[in-house]
Amino acid sequence: MPSRAGASASVRVASACAGQYCPRPFPPFSGVKAVSILANRLSAVKPSPTIAATTKAAELKAKGLDVIGLGAGEPDFDTPDHIKEAAKLAIDRGETKYTPTAGTPALRKAIVDKFKRENGLDYKIEQVTVGVGGKQVIFNAFLATVQEGDEVIVPAPYWVSYPDIVLMFGGKPVFVPCGENSRFKLSAEGLEQAITPKTKWLVLNSPNNPTGAAYTESELRALADVLLKHPHVWIMTDDIYEHLNYDGFKFTTIAQIEPKLLDRTLTLNGVSKAFAMTGWRMGYACGPVELIKAMNMVQSQSASHPTSITQAATVAALNGPLDFLKPRNEAFKRRRDLAVKMLNEAKGITCQTPEGAFYVYPSCAGAIGKTTPKGRKLATDTDFVEALLDEALVAAVQGSAFGLSPYFRISYATSDAALTEACKRIQKFCDDLR
Ligand code: GLU
Repeated sequence: MPSRAGASASVRVASACAGQYCPRPFPPFSGVKAVSILANRLSAVKPSPTIAATTKAAELKAKGLDVIGLGAGEPDFDTPDHIKEAAKLAIDRGETKYTPTAGTPALRKAIVDKFKRENGLDYKIEQVTVGVGGKQVIFNAFLATVQEGDEVIVPAPYWVSYPDIVLMFGGKPVFVPCGENSRFKLSAEGLEQAITPKTKWLVLNSPNNPTGAAYTESELRALADVLLKHPHVWIMTDDIYEHLNYDGFKFTTIAQIEPKLLDRTLTLNGVSKAFAMTGWRMGYACGPVELIKAMNMVQSQSASHPTSITQAATVAALNGPLDFLKPRNEAFKRRRDLAVKMLNEAKGITCQTPEGAFYVYPSCAGAIGKTTPKGRKLATDTDFVEALLDEALVAAVQGSAFGLSPYFRISYATSDAALTEACKRIQKFCDDLR
């Protein structure tokens, strides 16, 4: 029993050194192979594929390769000046200390006001939770609620982190394939069929990562009608791409469509995408008090709160003007149209025009089974994306990461010139397949 011997040895050392610096070799060398320190709950979880793709493209670029990165889900625009200025002023005012776990009073008020003004949702200050990015808010919600065997309905394609966080807490992601025929959206029938007595949550994400698909009012109405029949199902709606939609699309969120769902909906948002603040790390949500209290309790035992500076910046973002968005959304729309057109011209690729976000999700079905000039056989979308990076120097993310193959995700949040060049390379790559 090496662990027992090790434990008692370390207790002895610790008490002998109590109160003073006591160097201890780590890990202790016993000649016996150590038992893994890792918890079982990690066995079903993998590193985030979107982060991995972004990191890999950055590494290749740093090595001097002329890689065009269409992998990262991050706006190429800068954080607006008035937001940066608010952060600087907060530092100068000395706002560099702990804040309440749920966020500063000014931030919580700004969040409540945002939901009222933009979404017609009435929340109270005690219904607010904030996290270090939207991802942490999701993490806190699932940690606080998901137990062994609980089912979480995740329409596929989905953003990579939903299922893995569910798995981390012993839950079971229940995937509902939402193909091109349904414009990558969950139908009322699909939802009805997926619900069981074990269903705890439905995850909605509109506009969606990775497809850009956004739900219309009537589509949300149809889902709400199903949910009204199943009062045990909670709804997590991730609205982080709310402001990024095109062609006059009207964004709505489910609790706005059906107020009877308000007492079992977590409405989640963040500043990363619309305000180009990915690195600041700020996500927020409102929901029923019992849930929010639990999430804030979890938060108090982990990060405590997002940084005080980011909170001040977020107050400026939420309370400030949104006019900077218009030219940015015009640029995104132009790039979306450019990417869709050029990708549809590529041999074996078909691409729908989505309503929002800054992604397109083309099918590469016509390239599967073919061989690249370097002799690679493309059996899956992962092969396609790997060969595209290696042979055409374009970074994208494979559809298998998002639960629907054979597709790949392209983030068009990059300059028109880089996007055009990348699409030309994709066309040539597809042309050269045999
Ligand atoms: N949400 C972005 C993406 O999908 C950022 C990376 C991540 O957190 O997954 O690329």
